[in-house]
Order: sequence, then C-alpha cells, then structure tokens
Amino acid sequence: MDYNTYTVSESLEKLASGEICCKDLVTSCLRQIEKSEDRLHSFITVFSEEALARADEEDEKRGKKESGPLSGIPLSVKDLLCTKDRQTTCGSKMLQNFVPPYDATVIEKLEKDGAIIIGKTTMDEFAMGSTSETCYYGVPQNPWQDGYVAGGSSGGSATSVASGQCLASLGSDTGGSIRQPASLCGVVGMKPTYGRVSRYGLVAFASSLDQIGPLTRSVEDCALLMNTIAGYDKRDSTSVRCDRVDYRTSIAEGLKGLKIGVPQEYFGEGLDEEVEKVVRENIAMAKDCGAQIVEVSLPHTDYCVAAYYLIAPAEASSNLARYDGVVYGYREMEAETLVDMYKRTRSEGFGAEVKRRILIGTYALSSGYYDAYYKKASQVRTVILQDFKNAFQQCDALISAVTPTPAWKVGEKADDPLAMYLSDIFSLSANLAGIPGMSVPGGFSTKGLPIGIQLQGPHFKEDTLLTIAYNIEKANGLANRLAPV
Ligand code: GLN
Repeated sequence: MDYNTYTVSESLEKLASGEICCKDLVTSCLRQIEKSEDRLHSFITVFSEEALARADEEDEKRGKKESGPLSGIPLSVKDLLCTKDRQTTCGSKMLQNFVPPYDATVIEKLEKDGAIIIGKTTMDEFAMGSTSETCYYGVPQNPWQDGYVAGGSSGGSATSVASGQCLASLGSDTGGSIRQPASLCGVVGMKPTYGRVSRYGLVAFASSLDQIGPLTRSVEDCALLMNTIAGYDKRDSTSVRCDRVDYRTSIAEGLKGLKIGVPQEYFGEGLDEEVEKVVRENIAMAKDCGAQIVEVSLPHTDYCVAAYYLIAPAEASSNLARYDGVVYGYREMEAETLVDMYKRTRSEGFGAEVKRRILIGTYALSSGYYDAYYKKASQVRTVILQDFKNAFQQCDALISAVTPTPAWKVGEKADDPLAMYLSDIFSLSANLAGIPGMSVPGGFSTKGLPIGIQLQGPHFKEDTLLTIAYNIEKANGLANRLAPV
C-alpha cells in the first residue's frame, strides 16, 4: 500500500484508529525514495535505519500519553538545519562532513512531537539561488516534468513532498525559498513572520531575512506543522513572545468579512499569461467563498530586487566569514601558511554563486560605499514595509502570483544571475518587510507545470493566510496532488 500518499492529517487519523502503524508510513516513504531518488535528487542524506528504529519507538508509544501530536510522521528537512550527530552540509563542499553537536530548535520540537526525520534535502549552496542548481551534492528535478527546475533554494524539500518521498518538510525562506519551490512543485509552503519561528540552529544566510517554515501537501498539514514549530525561544533573541495560536482550528472559518487586496504592481509586464489566468481564477474563487476583493498598490515593488540583492549578500558576507577552514568543515591541506590556507579553503570550498554574493556584500559594506549601497538599500527596505502597512489599512491580506512564470528548464538561467534574481520579484518583499507569506497550489500550465498562488499578510497573521488558503484549496480541489513519479 502507498501509505506515503496520505497527508499528515490523514495519516494521524489512520494511526489513531490503528489502521496503519508508523513503520508502514516510514517503509512506504523509503520505498518511494528508492524508486524515485535517482531521477529526483531530493536528498543529500537519507536516515533509513534510524527512521525505521524511530518508527518502532513511536509505534511502541502509540496510544500512550507520551505519544506526541506528530507521532510517527516521516518528514524531510532542508540540509541547513542543524541535526545533532547527523551531517549538515548546507549544500556546500565547505560543510562536507560537518556534524553539528546540537539540534536546531525546530528539529528538537518536531522530534519531541513524535515526527521522524527521514532525511536532509538538496538545496542551493548556503540557500543562495532560485533553482537549487548551485547544490554541490546533486540538483533536484521538477517531479512534474523532466528537465525542469524544482525551484529553490528549498528545492529538495519541495520535490520530496510533491513526490510522496515523505509527508512534509521544513525549508527556509530568505527571499522566497519556501514559497517559490512550493509553487513550482505544486505544494503548500509558508514563510512565517520574522520572529515567529526560532532560527536557533539554522545555518545563517542573511540573518535579518531568514525564516524557517513548512512545505506540505495540504493547508491543514501546514497548520499542523506550524503548531509544532512556532513559538518563542530564548536561544533566538529575535524570536517573538506572542500568544499561541491553534492554526488548525482557525483554518476552517469562511472568508465572509475578509478583504483581499490585489496589488496592481504584481500584474504588470513580465507576468506570464498562463500564470495570470490561474491567479485571476483563484481570486474569483476566493470571491465566491465570500471574500471582498479590492485593488491596492505597493508602489515601491520595483525596488525590492535591488534592495534585497544588496542586503542579503551584505549579511551573507559577514555570516560566511566563519568558514575559513579553522573550525568548520572543509580545509585545504596543502597550504603552507595560515593565510594561504584561508585563501585556498575559501576558493575551493565555496561555489561561484556564493563567492559572487560574498564579493557583492563585502563591496556594499566597505568604507566609502556603505552609504551609497547598504544604507540606501536599508532605507528602501523601510519604504517597502511602509507600502505593506498602507495596503493593510485597506485589506486583510494580499493575493498574487509567487513567481512571474512556471518552472523553467534546468540550465536556462544558470549562467545569467540577473535573470535568476529577477525571477524573485514577487517573493522578496515579504522578507524585507518581515511579514508572513505563503504559496498554495492554484493550477497548472498547459505543459502540466504547477502554478502557485501567493498570499501575504500583516505581521503575525499567519492564521488569516491559512484560512484564505484553506478556502482556495477547497474551491480548486488541489489538496494532496502528488506528482506522477
Ligand atoms: N532566490 C533568493 C536568493 O537567491 C532567495 C533565496 C532564499 O530565500 N534562501 O537569495
């Protein structure tokens, strides 16, 4: 039986009724991995034996008090979340063989709630990219169509969920890296508000933008995972103390009384016709569910790419300074002097895109250029936040496309960084403003490639986004669509 085709919530019901056991779930996911991994490349590491042993443990606990709300659910996690005694590479040669001595808070929380980490997923090196093609350990492929990108940087997380290699995943989103691969692979993805989920144990790319969030096959599953991972953590000084929300109960409300804004700047030049059509169809469905649709404006949208591609590399250049061959991961062994060792380690350990970002970031922060670049970008960031604040005076959430086009061919933009950066135009602003955003499947292109719908909301209003997404998902019937692999 293909138990791996159940959603998290269906599996929990079947586990509770005794129809299936945790071992069934883990075994069928491992079977699916074996069958499809050669083609998909979702994983850098698979913990087969450990996952089976954990399944036995959870089966043992079943029905007893200590069994948690995600007991026995096989999940994958992006390979930049620290897993104690388990390799964490960040998709980079630099961290090959890096074995963290501790778990990220989200890993601790998942395992405490009974989830089973089945493997660590492929990703763009240090999460820098939009296709996962910069991964040192293999490039995930779009499970819907051979030869197309899975998106990125959480590409492997998206492909593992879309293809039934696991039931759900955790990714990270600095400028779209959860929402965009979710959109291109036809799954649900949420970037929570900055501060909602602890970043402790997330290998940092751009600390003021990074957030961890779920990728799932249904909106309800997204809510379930949010229930586990959200919350204050004293080990992350930017995590926010706020009331606990039960995301699962709030999703079932209707859309009556909600106003959804359509930002006109997201519907201009460059938006693929098929994508626009799918977005407009889903807007009409939201309207039929009782929402009021209003036109709004985010006038500084055009500046988000420039601002993001200065701020993110600036922070990255500082965060990645620690990889010098002394403490972490890769070290070039032939060097004769310390300085030579630093140079050779960094030249060989990092790939081209990471080096490009370090150079851009170092330049933008350097004396004489700081005011013109980094400071200016930070000012633009404030203006973008203000745009959202103004828009949220008129509506409860925003609806748009996640990406201007469906997935493109592997290699198509790999040598054109600017084209790659421009494809992020709709997803970067949420990170600059720190607001929550999500992607929910909306439809398919004529080539059969998934198209996602993006919802963005005011700070800490993940529950509103989930409610809208749940209604849209019910209307378009796209929950739990597995890719044909
Ligand atoms: N595509 C964006 C970048 O390359 C976003 C990546 C991310 O969210 N980690 O920086």
